[in-house]
Amino acid sequence: MNFELSPEITAMCEAVTGFAQRDLTGPDSFEPIDFRRRWELAGKQGILGATVPTQYGGSGLDAVAAVALMEALGSGCADTGFAFSAAAHLFACLMPITEFGTEEQCRHWLPRLCSGELVAAHAITEAEAGSDIFNMSARAVRDGDHYVLNGTKVFTTNAPIADVFLVQAVTSPGSGFFGVTAFLIGAATPGLRVGPPYAKIGLRGSPTAEVHFADCRVPADCVLGGEGAGASVFTGSMKWERTCLFGIYLGAMRRVLDSTIVYAGERVQFGSPIGEFQAVSHRIVDMLARLESAALLLNKAAVELSRGGNCEVSAGLAKIAVSEAAVQIGLDAIQLRGALGVTAGDAETLLRDAVPSRIFSGTNEIQKNNVARALGLGRKRR
Ligand SMILES: Cc1cc2nc3c(=O)[nH]c(=O)nc-3n(C[C@H](O)[C@H](O)[C@H](O)COP(=O)(O)OP(=O)(O)OC[C@H]3O[C@@H](n4cnc5c(N)ncnc54)[C@H](O)[C@@H]3O)c2cc1C
Repeated sequence: MNFELSPEITAMCEAVTGFAQRDLTGPDSFEPIDFRRRWELAGKQGILGATVPTQYGGSGLDAVAAVALMEALGSGCADTGFAFSAAAHLFACLMPITEFGTEEQCRHWLPRLCSGELVAAHAITEAEAGSDIFNMSARAVRDGDHYVLNGTKVFTTNAPIADVFLVQAVTSPGSGFFGVTAFLIGAATPGLRVGPPYAKIGLRGSPTAEVHFADCRVPADCVLGGEGAGASVFTGSMKWERTCLFGIYLGAMRRVLDSTIVYAGERVQFGSPIGEFQAVSHRIVDMLARLESAALLLNKAAVELSRGGNCEVSAGLAKIAVSEAAVQIGLDAIQLRGALGVTAGDAETLLRDAVPSRIFSGTNEIQKNNVARALGLGRKRR
């Protein structure tokens, strides 16, 4: 497998790291005006539409280049929440529009979503339908040339600032996987209401909220991918998200690993830099090994995605490896800083930002179920 990047992509990634350090790093909290300001800058830099075809305003990168770009973003932008919002927008919203949208939908939405003028959110999870996602109860009922939506979505990334929602609702009750339809719905549509942002352990720069639909009437041309194609839209978006979004965490881990190496070289106890103690240096080597193995798995998944193959197993394994590595590297970085590690700083921020990564994009337990199923093991899909 060839993960080698062209000189152009390498230069682009270096530029993104510098740009993200300078212009995208913000407070570890959500502030709408500042978020919008940084969003527009990220759009101008080509981050928000990185994998969208150039004719719709994107940069047309493949998945391998996208992982490298996300890693560059995550390494430069100390606000992992903001980087997560950008990646969720791109991989869970823009890529489904690119892959399932009509020409008219692509032309209508993608250029402004790539440029940073608009923000998108993908709303599928419900209070009673998390891992069991196709147990959702939000309904969309056809009424002439419109659909009428009712229901509530939870944990929707970007909801408090979104201009457009990719929403999944049941159009054919009892048909499970095949009874779900995806819709593109403007935030100003009557009957759509967004709740207040959740207070989260990490990714605090990324706003997340509930989205309520009460007799929300949308034209039939808001359907994405055709009636009953919601599950395919969702599966397609997860393939991008589980692969490319997690590049952000590779970058965040590298940033914290680098600062940990510097700290271990500078902090003196018992007359020596602590990095001279084998217990410390070996822990750092373990951190690097964990990061590099996770990076290899993620790049393998990206190569498979770029080739258009079925990357479900490698994307699931990569998602598990990257998120578990991020949690462990966060813990290790805290331990190596001693008491300083539990005060506000890059190590504790990494740990807080890493915890949600074991849950979103399908929990790590669900990834293991998917891989087990691919091996002919575990419970069959019902
Ligand atoms: C930061 C963040 C951002 C998110 N952004 C979005 C978004 O933009 N849009 C959106 O729609 N959703 C989003 N989500 C929701 C996310 O997709 C769900 O939280 C996730 O799918 C898990 O669902 P749940 O929280 O209901 O957990 P549950 O499904 O209730 O799971 C609870 C626990 O049970 C385990 N479990 C459940 N079923 C099984 C099983 N069959 N086998 C083994 N273990 C099982 C789970 O692994 C987990 O440990 C986000 C979540 C987070 C944390």
